[in-house]
Parts: sequence; C-alpha cells; structure tokens
Amino acid sequence: MRKKLAAGNWKMNGTEAQLAEVDSLIASHPDPKVDLLLCPPATLIERMARRVGTAQIAVGGQDCHAAVSGAHTGDVSAEMLRDAGARHVILGHSERRADHGETDACIRAKAETALAHDLIVVICVGETEAQRDAGDTLDVIRTQLAGSIPDGVTGAQLVVAYEPVWAIGTGRTPTLDQIAEVHDAIRAALTERLGAAQADTIRLLYGGSVKPGNAAEIFAVSNVDGALVGGASLKAADFSGIIAAL
Ligand code: PGA
Repeated sequence: MRKKLAAGNWKMNGTEAQLAEVDSLIASHPDPKVDLLLCPPATLIERMARRVGTAQIAVGGQDCHAAVSGAHTGDVSAEMLRDAGARHVILGHSERRADHGETDACIRAKAETALAHDLIVVICVGETEAQRDAGDTLDVIRTQLAGSIPDGVTGAQLVVAYEPVWAIGTGRTPTLDQIAEVHDAIRAALTERLGAAQADTIRLLYGGSVKPGNAAEIFAVSNVDGALVGGASLKAADFSGIIAAL
C-alpha cells in the first residue's frame, strides 16, 4: 500500500557535469515502478528540475531555514526551494545536526515552515555508535521523532529516514534485525502520535551505506519502504541497482 521510495542525497557534491547522471537515470527508468527523489546541492536544484522535465523524478533540497525570509546570509528558504522546483526537503540529517548544531526543536521549526510552503519533509533520525553501544538507540530515536516532527502533519507530507550515524559513508550497516527493530519502533511512535490512518501511509527509509549489493535484503525488512542513499546516488548505475532492488 505504501509506494516504495528511492531518495538520493548528493550532499555537497556536483556541478553542471554531474547532471549527466540524471539523464542516465531517466534513460534507465523511463517508467519507474517506485517513487524517485534526488536532492542535489542548492545550486543545482533548478537546473536538475529543468533537466528532469516531465520524467518521473522528484527534486528536493537538503535543508531550509526556519524563517520565511530575511537577514540570514547564506541560507535558503523553503519558498526558494519550492520556487527552484523542489517538492521535498531533507531536514535533520545527522551531518546538519553535527556540523550546524541543529536540535530537534530547530528541525521542527524548519519542518513547519517547509510544510507551510507545500514541501514534503524527509526528517532524519539516527543514533551514534556510542548511543547504540550504551543500549540507548530506541530512546534516542523516539526523542528525535517526538521533538522534530510537527503536530498535525499528514502521512502525505512526511517521510522519515532512519540513518544510524555510524553507518553513514562507512560501509557498515546494522543487522537486518536491528533495522527491523528501529523501523517497527518508528512506525509505533508515529501511530501513537498521529493515529494509524496517517502513520500507515508514511514511508520509512533506511539510510547508511546502502549499495546495490545490500539493497534487496534491506528492502525485505519489515517497515522499510525505501532508502535514503548518499554516495551510491552519485552514479546512475549504482542508484539504478538500488532502485531495481525495490
Ligand atoms: P551514504 O549516506 O549512503 O553515503 O552512507 C547516506 C546519507 O547520509 O543519507
């Protein structure tokens, strides 16, 4: 019932030349059976949206400011993302939490502004290795969800990505049982918060070292509705291999 979603996060990678990968992706998936989303750096959003044209790939931002507009040098607003052609925005990625000190309250404020500008929010949660080793994973995830998801959000407006910090860009992944445990807990927390009717429609993505070689087994896990892919989304061939496993 939930349509699968393959989302690519290009992070701070890519200039004009990188857009050739979008052409390859479109050529390999002219009629995708799953939803596709690419989140390039802000400088490429508009060019990517034009390049995608009528093909079935959504374009998203990687962050936005909580304020609608104003004196925030270097920041990008939700309205600007929308204007450039984005329909989604990733919020609360662990790199933003770590590099920019983003708290759950800050992510929630950004999400409220993004939703008010008709963007679908992809909210990221995940534990550090120390938190997992201390047995705190589920508590950390529940706290992040409670603090960062706005009240009244609908299932159509929200995607949640579980990204263990220690699995991002490391080639390491949790066991399938560990992924299932967290995804089941996220679904339960969303059900408690938003009710089953909304929670059952929210896509839960796994992220962290997803590759063509491990995608199929991860996608078979309970409550995994797709992936948020970093490194392997930069090459159309790798991302295609992941899409094919969905
Ligand atoms: P990775 O990154 O696929 O390169 O591990 C995932 C992410 O940070 O979204």
